[in-house]
Amino acid sequence: MTTAEQLQWLIQLYHWDSQLAEQVQRLETYPLRLQALQTLRQQVQQKLEEAHQAWRMTRQKREEKEFQVAKLEQHIEHLQSAARQAKSNREYAETLLKIEDVRHRIRQMEDELLEWMEKEDKAFQAWKTLEAEVQAQLRDLDHQVAQVQQEQQALEAQVRRLRAQREAFAHRLPRTLLQIYERIAQNRGGVALAEVRDQVCGACHVQLRPRLYQSLRTMEDLVVCENCQRILFLPEWAQSVPVAE
Ligand SMILES: [Zn+2]
Repeated sequence: MTTAEQLQWLIQLYHWDSQLAEQVQRLETYPLRLQALQTLRQQVQQKLEEAHQAWRMTRQKREEKEFQVAKLEQHIEHLQSAARQAKSNREYAETLLKIEDVRHRIRQMEDELLEWMEKEDKAFQAWKTLEAEVQAQLRDLDHQVAQVQQEQQALEAQVRRLRAQREAFAHRLPRTLLQIYERIAQNRGGVALAEVRDQVCGACHVQLRPRLYQSLRTMEDLVVCENCQRILFLPEWAQSVPVAE
């Protein structure tokens, strides 16, 4: 097998691996994207829960005021009964004054009650308005999640397919050549080849010495970068290689 033929095989395998690496990298972004959507979902629900809480708080305040008014009214009934049983004019007059005083407090309390009723009404409306918005937002988010998951599954299937095709292709390579390739790939972050442009290694960006560049051009043997040890090739050689699909 000539060096040119060996390189043809290697470049093609390199294309498979580059494609695979790119797809795997894309796949790795999906959990984060899904997590971000999930966080958004929680924030939207949290906002709604806060509005619900705000309404319940006003309702509780209103109920408290109602209870206080009821207690004061009960107190008036007691006082009225006491007035009927008064043993002297003075006691009677004093009891009437007390009744007047409690009535005054009831009127104040009723003003406050009215304010809380208005607040409760507003809080309820705000909650209901938000609820409708939030439901729409949640539907939209669920739709986005489903879409991202669908994309993720499609990409996973694509990666599985690519991997199988890459393996099938690798099996056709001469064993020693494949071993060389795999060994370099293992030590160099999965990238065993580097394209040389302007006499510079495309992977580590170190300039090739003229003699090394010369032997690369003559294609007598496989040439590795003196710095990163990757097998070097010139762009024009890659062009004659059918692109992996
Ligand atoms: Zn290099």
